[in-house]
Amino acid sequence: MAPTAKSSRKPARAAPRGKARGEERDLIARLSRGAVICAEGYVFELERRGYLQAGAFVPEVLFDHPEVVEQLHLDFVHAGSDVTQALTYYVHREKLRVIGREKDLVPMNRAALKIAKSVARKTGTLLAGDLCNTNIYDPADKRSIKEVERIFDEQVGWAVEAGVDYFVAETLGWAGEALMALEAIRKHSKVPAVVTFAMHREELTRDGLTPAEACRRLEGAGADVVGLNCHRGPATMMPLLKEIRQAVKCHVAALPVPYRTTREQPSFMSLTDPCCGDRRAFPVGLDPFVCTRQEISDFGREAFALGIRYLGVCCGAGPHHIRALAESLGRHPPASRYSADMSKHAFFGTDKKIRKIQTDYQDKA
Ligand SMILES: [Zn+2]
Repeated sequence: MAPTAKSSRKPARAAPRGKARGEERDLIARLSRGAVICAEGYVFELERRGYLQAGAFVPEVLFDHPEVVEQLHLDFVHAGSDVTQALTYYVHREKLRVIGREKDLVPMNRAALKIAKSVARKTGTLLAGDLCNTNIYDPADKRSIKEVERIFDEQVGWAVEAGVDYFVAETLGWAGEALMALEAIRKHSKVPAVVTFAMHREELTRDGLTPAEACRRLEGAGADVVGLNCHRGPATMMPLLKEIRQAVKCHVAALPVPYRTTREQPSFMSLTDPCCGDRRAFPVGLDPFVCTRQEISDFGREAFALGIRYLGVCCGAGPHHIRALAESLGRHPPASRYSADMSKHAFFGTDKKIRKIQTDYQDKA
């Protein structure tokens, strides 16, 4: 993993975190020094912004509005992400087949990688390639296994061509599928691999392993970072993370969704909203469950104290969540210039310049 002459030639425009030269493109070196923050959950944020359709969740925005994707990458970096992760989530053969755009497979992957690479190089962040759940993995069906292998092989290939600094294989429900993703990464590249499971209501992978055991096997198969992303909010992901942290020696990843999941409804797909006839809130009615910045900050601190170093927030995360996470680790990303300062508030301010007629009214505000 050669540190690039290229990125050191150009002063990075947004390199807020004093990176030691020479290590800046090496994920493992960065993790050995401290936390690495990775913003995920692009498709949910693009959906909220009106550029992506919930349901299929395929980022056609890569063609329709590449500038919006670029801006979102920049927003997350501004908020404290150390990583620019290529938006190839659900840009695989199977998802494009479902929406009838299989012919766009290659250009759409290349578009995602090109946009992410340009942001990563401009901002001095790590460039991550991305593999995800294929939705066709079936251990009993040899043909599906072949198709999954093809999906991972080709997506790894395009990302390697783009020169990614490391790979993320994410939102995986099956240990078997996760191992296949890892194998594809190992077969075609030498860069580090982060592999994360997404746990539904059951505290078992779909092939019946505890997440701790599944992560242990991934570590054994050569994953550099293992852990969990998506589906579960901080409260219901944390107990599983503790078990994973104890089960493996390698670095652990934690990227919950920013939703208030509960013991009864531990995943964001299972949340029901009492205000609306107890209907399933997923995916576009989740707003009343969104975590506050404080909750994300508490999660970040607790996870870091446990020894978890690869941290982020998944579907539902906005840049404000990433900033809260970064600040919980003592960081001061560019967006922190605008972090709340209530001392100058019209009613609650403590600044001398705030008039008494206003502060006297505080209790009625
Ligand atoms: Zn997610």
